[in-house]
Amino acid sequence: MARGDILQSIYNYSENDLKEYMISIGEKPFRSSQIMEWLYRHKISSFDEMSNISKKFIEKLKEDFSLDLLECVTHQKSADGTQKFLFKLKDGNLIESVLMNNEYGYSICVTSEVGCNMGCVFCASGMKKKLRNLLTSEMVLQILTVEKLTNLKITHIVVMGIGEPFDNYDNVLNFFNIVNNPKGLEIGARHITVSTCGLVPKIKEYADFPLQVNLAISLHAPTTLIRDQIMPINKAYPLDTLIDAIKYYIDKTNRRVTIEYILLKGINDTLECAKALADLLHGLNVYVNLIPYNEVIEKPYRRSSKEDMVNFFDYLKKRRINVQLRREQGSDIDAACGQLRSKHMK
Ligand code: SF4
Repeated sequence: MARGDILQSIYNYSENDLKEYMISIGEKPFRSSQIMEWLYRHKISSFDEMSNISKKFIEKLKEDFSLDLLECVTHQKSADGTQKFLFKLKDGNLIESVLMNNEYGYSICVTSEVGCNMGCVFCASGMKKKLRNLLTSEMVLQILTVEKLTNLKITHIVVMGIGEPFDNYDNVLNFFNIVNNPKGLEIGARHITVSTCGLVPKIKEYADFPLQVNLAISLHAPTTLIRDQIMPINKAYPLDTLIDAIKYYIDKTNRRVTIEYILLKGINDTLECAKALADLLHGLNVYVNLIPYNEVIEKPYRRSSKEDMVNFFDYLKKRRINVQLRREQGSDIDAACGQLRSKHMK
């Protein structure tokens, strides 16, 4: 095993963690700012590049930390500019990240867990059970590694890759602190979105998080009956408790919530469903994202027809719901979340 494999990654450390580390080794706490700048502004690949840090201190950092990026196993590029990466972690586990080229900048979809236990029936990621939480560093490194491989600057983050981010709550919030820090990657909180399938207690807890990171709810169903069929989380936290949590969050933060809704043919895409959804969301400060389904070969679910998607969208518009029908991205590569990883696993 290489030495870098047993050392802790320095990218697990927020500025405060670094300050505590400095104090613990008898260094000045302000060194934490210098280190942050070297890591995230200058994006060093060796501690020796830190020209304003003493040789002795550099040797101490080398003894304690690794600076390694992630190992890229596969890199796919779509004709529309979407890029998909399969990374191998130090313990051999595989994770995915997706880079999207939007008119407002480059946005990365970050994975938060190795596998997922939520079991949403239409999802390729959920086919592989959760093995462990990702460390903060393994989320930060998805960004740094993609930037290094592509030579692009990422401006937006969505935590919507493999995993349920609120099931790895502390590491995900620490990740936000690092990427948002002005000495870190300096990505504005409003340019970051976290998506949950509906862990009600965590949504309420998240209302107290001081950074204005956007919240998205993977709703995907307008009634308890349908949600029960496609999202097992609804058994633990039924739809009415989820809506209450969304109201609580909006009241407490005064922020708009995004509602993610994947359109599945014959399951949740009828006009009755559109009506039920409009009734459910009436009066709430939400924005609905209608998403064409990326079909997964092992799953029986199909994408809604163009006509049904447009009718659904038009109905919500008519009911004055803020809504967009999301454009499809990366359909010529393994676009569905978890698909690339599944292919590389037995
Ligand atoms: S949709 Fe999200 S929460 Fe549901 S199984 Fe897939 S990764 Fe997990």
